[in-house]
Amino acid sequence: MSVSSSTGYVPRPRSSPRVLLKRLREIMAEETEPEARLNALVRAIAANMVADVCSIYVRRTDDALELFATEGLNPRAVHETRLNWGEGLVGRVAQDKKPLAVRDAPAHSAFSYKAETGEDPLHAFLGVPIVRSGHVLGVLVVQNRAHRRYSEDETEAAQIVATVLAEIVQAGGLLDEADTESARALLAAPEDAVGTGVSPGIVTGTVALLEPGLREHKVFADSVAAEKERLENAIAGLQKSVDEMIASDAQLSGISRDVLEVYRLFAYDRGWVRRLEEKVLAGLTAETAVEQVQAENRERMRAAPDPYIRERLHDLEDLSRRLIRALNGGEGPPPLPENAVLLADTLGPAELLELDRDRLAGLVLGDGGGTSHAAIVARTLGLPFVSGVPQIVESARTGDTIIVDGDHGEVHLRPPDDLIRTYEQRRELRSARLADYAALRDSPARTLDGVEIDLQMNAGLVLDMPHLRETGASGVGLFRTELQFLIGSTLPTASEQEAHYREILDAAGGKPVVFRTADIGSDKRGGYMLHPAEANPAMGWRGLRLSLDREGLLRTQVRALIAAADGRELRVLLPLVTACREVRAARGVLGKELARRERMGKSLPERVLVGAMIEIPAAAWEAGRIAEEADFLSIGGNDLAQFFFAADRESERVSRRYDPLCSGFLSFVGHAAREAQAAGKPIGYCGEQASDPLMALALLGLGLRSLSVTASAIGPLKAMIRTVDLAALRSWLERAEDGAEGSLRRDMDVYARQSRIVLPDWS
Ligand code: PEP
Ligand code: MG
Repeated sequence: MSVSSSTGYVPRPRSSPRVLLKRLREIMAEETEPEARLNALVRAIAANMVADVCSIYVRRTDDALELFATEGLNPRAVHETRLNWGEGLVGRVAQDKKPLAVRDAPAHSAFSYKAETGEDPLHAFLGVPIVRSGHVLGVLVVQNRAHRRYSEDETEAAQIVATVLAEIVQAGGLLDEADTESARALLAAPEDAVGTGVSPGIVTGTVALLEPGLREHKVFADSVAAEKERLENAIAGLQKSVDEMIASDAQLSGISRDVLEVYRLFAYDRGWVRRLEEKVLAGLTAETAVEQVQAENRERMRAAPDPYIRERLHDLEDLSRRLIRALNGGEGPPPLPENAVLLADTLGPAELLELDRDRLAGLVLGDGGGTSHAAIVARTLGLPFVSGVPQIVESARTGDTIIVDGDHGEVHLRPPDDLIRTYEQRRELRSARLADYAALRDSPARTLDGVEIDLQMNAGLVLDMPHLRETGASGVGLFRTELQFLIGSTLPTASEQEAHYREILDAAGGKPVVFRTADIGSDKRGGYMLHPAEANPAMGWRGLRLSLDREGLLRTQVRALIAAADGRELRVLLPLVTACREVRAARGVLGKELARRERMGKSLPERVLVGAMIEIPAAAWEAGRIAEEADFLSIGGNDLAQFFFAADRESERVSRRYDPLCSGFLSFVGHAAREAQAAGKPIGYCGEQASDPLMALALLGLGLRSLSVTASAIGPLKAMIRTVDLAALRSWLERAEDGAEGSLRRDMDVYARQSRIVLPDWS
């Protein structure tokens, strides 16, 4: 049974636009003037859609929409009738960037009467925007005398035609030279956006798109037969790869079996394949066919009342992307130009690590939360990264110049030369500041009143280790071992793990390294990992929970860590601890492995310290008890804040909605710190928030003396700490916490400036 007929959400349009597309292709192939071609197009569309009128309005430089061609309206109105942006039904379609179907246009509140068009007897109206790279280039309109509402299929057909028109306008040949140039200028105009600065730094680079195939291809194929064969081969390849994914019984796989089964259903769905073929037979390239079928599915599935069906849209989107990749002859990520800035809607940490690091210079995402793991990897790699700028991602083309300012969350696409120069100066200024910080490398992070702060660094790759020396960090306070699991295409073997940990310890040159056991699950999965589909993976089977259930994983890792320590001190940190018994169970595994090694007569670590991460409210609340089971505690503020505020750290919409620099969260952290201190165990903070100077001040004010932060934050924080009077800060914070509601950020900033505390300033 086909997916479309079994669920009813991917049905075939009743009136296929195939014939029309074929006709458009013929018209485009004719040697003729643009005006005659436009007239032929509107005639063909009107005939195909059984419309009394078909018109094309083109956006002019002043944003007015000018009638460029019509079948059915008074021809004298061509180049006469103009509607302002948002004016009348046509202007409304352009402004809203979505189709509008109206049964009786003159009765509509937005209707604007244009006498010269002679449209008096027309009632039914359908307008669809002609959009390219997120920009409205014009509006396609069909009208009928009768009172009637155009069906969904008709709207869809008009949208397909509009997509093709947009491509043709851009490619040239539909408008005259000057008008084509102004349409191209619109698409090539500089664009700016402010999103979220996720990873600091400034770069001017060249756009590379994660999925370039979806937007950068020809509309019409040179040979229908060859294109059909290309499509068939790509579909067969796709089906085979989905079958192989299902057949491979790797212990862990990034996509759950349920999802794969849905993929298989889609990949073999005759309705889907037939619709793709139909479009290719009509003369479109396979890529355009995939894009259009996907656009149709998107509309339908987004509107489906059943949430299960809406969810499946992601699967189908993913499958379409895979098909495009197969058409482009590859599975892997795109080759990058020098100094590449990668643009994508979303990106997982494993995908990021797959990219050529020598060429990757920056990252821009349409979506993606601030503390997501891709963000952590980006910081590790020192990549300026801005997220939450969907329009830029939609509009950018391969090869465009782009400036990414991760310090301020700004992105400038196709910037003018003077802006490039301004940013070059900023970059130089920034480098000078970095040099100032570097000069502090060997000075202590000591407050004015003589309190020594332990400033450590977060890491996860061998590449991070040189930063230890460059920044003067006192050690690695958090080494995320799972990154090794995410990079490869298979689970790292015991000896690969051992070699990796040995390399890290060697590179640390005697400074302490806290190895966190693999925090796998949630968004941290390798492509080979089989993981059950969970509604809330961040709260699901991940971290220590998964390690204890799959004891083999934990045992292998602990064994590798003990061997790598080779007589040196070993610090092990357990992620996502919820209950004391989990720490005891993990210690049990560690104890067994130490005993085994002793039996084998091999070197034991000089000493072993076991830490527990405090990143779940239950653990924070009971930090005292957990401290009794552990040698040290480390607060993972990224997860702790996400659970404290019930705000998904991966969600662009909510991840920054609540400021952790507020009295509620601080008093919660303070509670955990006091509990640990009462139990006589050291406690530090390794969440990314500690890299934020004002938050770091608050944490110091709460009594924390050990912070583990992004390497790039060590210098600025050290410079700041050296200007802090800690006793004064503590008493100010106590008073401020008492009276405050909501964020303390403003007050903290005022306090810091009045107290002459040096805050890092990147502007
Ligand atoms: C945290 O949750 O704060 C943390 C340090 O761990 P991760 O970000 O890797 O989940
Ligand atoms: Mg965490």
